[in-house]
Amino acid sequence: MNRKIALITGATAGIGHETAILLAQNNYNLILTGRRKERLDSLKTKLELDFGCQTLLLNFDIRIRKSTENALNSVPDEWKAIDVLINNAGLAAGLGPVNSADVDDWDTMIDTNVKGLLYVTRIVSPWMVERQSGHIINLSSIAGKEAYPNGSVYCGTKHAVAAITKAMRIELMPQGIKVSSIAPGAVDTEFSLVRFRGDREKADQVYKGFSPLVAKDIAETILFVITRPAHVNIDDLLIMPTNQASARDFNRK
Ligand code: NAP
Repeated sequence: MNRKIALITGATAGIGHETAILLAQNNYNLILTGRRKERLDSLKTKLELDFGCQTLLLNFDIRIRKSTENALNSVPDEWKAIDVLINNAGLAAGLGPVNSADVDDWDTMIDTNVKGLLYVTRIVSPWMVERQSGHIINLSSIAGKEAYPNGSVYCGTKHAVAAITKAMRIELMPQGIKVSSIAPGAVDTEFSLVRFRGDREKADQVYKGFSPLVAKDIAETILFVITRPAHVNIDDLLIMPTNQASARDFNRK
């Protein structure tokens, strides 16, 4: 394969989906993961037809350790030379105070955003160490830098991603592996629809009265981060909509 290889978790929607399209346009072959198989299938068809991108699909739930391990260990050897791992799959489930929030939502967020990211990294990073080369991008959030009320566990998971990223950066530096965190503010994806369990009206309120980021903004940021010269590592990049200045401060018209 003369194209580079990127693995993107959560490529069925939002940031992961747009990043897959942009990287396919930019000469990457792709390993794409997610639970919604039909979306992965149609993305594969598009990427192959439009950009001549070879695509390997892995259809598993990142919360389930055995499924994650089995899926990744099934990757043929020629695909294991992964240049870029984008740990993107993640979600917020619900919005509520610690005294009444749904405990199942907490499990879902911790299992996906923290444990899922670790399961994937534990398998892929040794392949990079063996080659003394690679770049790992972790999707953190403004919620990994500030805590906001009713988001204790989502913010907790993204603070965990920030801490894990920092430690990974130090651990993997001597192995020639780059590690970066990208922390977006509000991005208009399926994120809020998922958080509010399909309630479109509630989800739309999140982005009302200002222009949020769109998934392509983050895809372009990821492309920038992974195309810096060998001696440059972007450690941590916070990217916000112009009219959002903190987790809670918006200039809505
Ligand atoms: P999205 O449109 O809802 O996409 C989330 C992706 O994660 C989907 O492809 C989904 O795939 C995958 N995913 C979720 N749970 C999974 C599971 N258990 N197993 C496998 N895949 C799973 O949301 P997004 O905005 O693009 O979010 C991407 C990342 O950016 C997340 O880590 C999120 O926390 C972070 N982020 C988002 C925002 C924002 O405002 N949107 C801001 C800061 C950070 P399936 O459902 O098909 O499995």
